[in-house]
Amino acid sequence: MKKKKNSPADKIQDLQYFGEFGGVNPSIADSTTFTYLAGKTMHDVFEGNREGCYLYSRHTNPSTSYLGQAIAEMENTEGSILTSSGMAAITTTILELCNSGDEIISSQTIYGGSFAFMQNYLPKYNIKTHFVDTTNLDEIKSKINKKTKLIYCETMSNPLLEVSDIRSISKLAKTYKIKLIVDNTFTPMIFTPKELGADIVIHSLTKFINGTSDTVGGIICSDEEFITNLIDVNSGSAMLLGPVMDSMRAASILKNLRTLHIRMKKHSENAKYLSEKIFKDGICVIYPGLKNHPQNQLMLQQMNQEFGFGGMLVIDMKTKQKANLLMEEMQAKNLGYLAVSLGFYKTLFSAPSHSTSSEIPENERKNIGLSDGLVRISIGLDNDIERTYKLMRRCIEKVNSF
Ligand SMILES: *Cc1c(COP(=O)(O)O)cnc(C)c1O
Repeated sequence: MKKKKNSPADKIQDLQYFGEFGGVNPSIADSTTFTYLAGKTMHDVFEGNREGCYLYSRHTNPSTSYLGQAIAEMENTEGSILTSSGMAAITTTILELCNSGDEIISSQTIYGGSFAFMQNYLPKYNIKTHFVDTTNLDEIKSKINKKTKLIYCETMSNPLLEVSDIRSISKLAKTYKIKLIVDNTFTPMIFTPKELGADIVIHSLTKFINGTSDTVGGIICSDEEFITNLIDVNSGSAMLLGPVMDSMRAASILKNLRTLHIRMKKHSENAKYLSEKIFKDGICVIYPGLKNHPQNQLMLQQMNQEFGFGGMLVIDMKTKQKANLLMEEMQAKNLGYLAVSLGFYKTLFSAPSHSTSSEIPENERKNIGLSDGLVRISIGLDNDIERTYKLMRRCIEKVNSF
């Protein structure tokens, strides 16, 4: 297995903290506002003529900055801005980049909330989105015109687990001077989209990065210039829309971030084991680590291999009824929880066509192959995955025998 020279995990490990009292964790900056010794200094900060001073926590806060620096290290970007949720990161970024009359080209298989924002909300501001199959470069190209501001995709799409060819898409974007935004929520550590050419990398921290299903959060990672624009006191969408993360939460997420590499490896190992077994049993399963996955080779070429193919897998039970029965059965056997979201220590499962992707209209769902029988499963950190497999197989057999 190839290990990168500059692994995202090493970069987090190499950060060093000396807290206010020499603590090994930075002290939590539990303040909304910060004092100045001179009125002139405050004025200079407002004017943008002085950096490195904290002013007000909607702008920046030391605790959120620590977390922001750590994730920017992981993503190899110059800077970052923490947000109160993944959706806040997505909407703030798009509203910063797009003016009325601009156009977006987006993958058609994206998180339901992102789809709904572009499809239903942005038209209010006269911003139009073309939804395309981003695995087809010609289709992207055919929608590019003078109004195109950005291309939007997920590293691994939700819920079909299609892998984007970020290198090729970014080349196309650069040719036309369009920004490429990549949502890396499903694959932290596994992908470093910036190194593949993405301009802006977004995460919902709610999922794998925090990993304890106790808080929502998000982050925008990009170059210093974009970050500075976002927090501009006169015009920045992060500053003016105000989607800030609280310092207490930032401190707790930072602590969880430190075990992300171990968790991702375990999620991946477990998901790979299960998908291979279930596939051999003749069940229809989607997992990018399987040889039959259409982007298996592409993923191998782009990923940081030491972290595996990720913790998400999808089983197609063919009908809505069977999907529901399987989820109820798996919960009854304590295999995990019937709940949306992902990246928890316990396995989580939901049927995307009637939950997280229900914002996508039915005919659209059919078009993109989002069947009613899909069960999306975020595989947990189970210690004995063979035991889990046996339980899961019994649940599937029971449902299929009805
Ligand atoms: C959950 C999720 C989001 C939204 O994040 P929130 O923290 O719930 O706002 C965005 N993109 C993807 C891929 C997600 O899974």
